[in-house]
Amino acid sequence: MFPPEFDYERADSVAEAVDRLAAHTQAGADAELLAGGHGLVPAMKAGDREPDAVVDLDTEDLVGVTEREDSLAVGALTTYSDLADSTLVREHAPVLADAVAEVGDVQIRNRGTLGGNLVEAHPAADPPAAVLAADATLVLVGPDGEREVPATEFFVGERETVVDPAEILTEIRVPAAGDGTNARTPETGTRDAGASGAGSTDAAYVRRTHPATGYALVGVAAVLDRDGETVTDARVAATGVVEHAVRLPAVEAALAGGPVDADARTAAAATADDDLDTGRFRSDPSASGEFRQGLLATYVERALAAAVV
Ligand SMILES: Cc1cc2nc3c(=O)[nH]c(=O)nc-3n(C[C@H](O)[C@H](O)[C@H](O)COP(=O)(O)OP(=O)(O)OC[C@H]3O[C@@H](n4cnc5c(N)ncnc54)[C@H](O)[C@@H]3O)c2cc1C
Repeated sequence: MFPPEFDYERADSVAEAVDRLAAHTQAGADAELLAGGHGLVPAMKAGDREPDAVVDLDTEDLVGVTEREDSLAVGALTTYSDLADSTLVREHAPVLADAVAEVGDVQIRNRGTLGGNLVEAHPAADPPAAVLAADATLVLVGPDGEREVPATEFFVGERETVVDPAEILTEIRVPAAGDGTNARTPETGTRDAGASGAGSTDAAYVRRTHPATGYALVGVAAVLDRDGETVTDARVAATGVVEHAVRLPAVEAALAGGPVDADARTAAAATADDDLDTGRFRSDPSASGEFRQGLLATYVERALAAAVV
């Protein structure tokens, strides 16, 4: 189906795009930013979104991964395939590298952007779980200037975030995991054991894929900081199960200060739905809420195992 008519505008800079979005918003019109187009265009063709104007942001300023003192700065227009191919991301944010490698298919990964994915906030999108577990910070630029939002405060509802209509997500700042990071080597899929144990960080993202939609029925991201065999900090997040990606504080608390052996992982995974009311679990043609709730503990355990084994 062809979407109703809309104005198409190009913007060569963030400032110009913000001005254009703000002008439309002030005029009471509905304007959407165009990034990879793999969320917005299908929604427009399906009649789910009918913007009056589409602002196509085309600037290299928001593309790429930059190493900062203690973090990685990812430009919001960076594609999934660029992230999956990035050695910096593989080394310092392996949970994000794992998650973007799972998104859609080759065409989607070559066009879709991390920023578009996070703002789209699809309830079963993969990267939101990774940025939550990585404790990322998201940088927004709008008519009132720049602001930083922790990932834990970014997702507020199904396909809903704190981004205002004239705001642009420009950067995703991911705290760099320690040098002892146990990054999985893409070629072999095995863990290239860094200084495992002492001051190391283990991370992984695993998901159960729905065979028809290709989306996650449940996806779990886990990042564990360790000192020897003891977990000093755990960040575990799930996607696909409730209205938006969420952290799992009960699992994190069950792991913190303890070992990461199989028994500890099973015990922690058993607390996976402690923080989630049964009524929040998503039911749709792909699966019932009950089925997703049943899968959650299994995939938490698998993510923890994938991270440390
Ligand atoms: C067939 C298919 C399969 C898919 N499978 C998966 C999957 O398995 N896992 C998964 O995670 N995703 C999946 N997706 C979604 C895909 O990842 C999209 O790319 C993503 O949801 C949107 O990113 P985009 O760059 O294409 O954004 P766009 O479609 O351009 O924009 C999406 C929305 O975000 C807004 N936006 C975009 N960038 C910004 C920004 N920088 N600042 C503010 N607002 C912004 C737009 O205005 C729009 O409202 C799939 C999509 C398709 C079509």
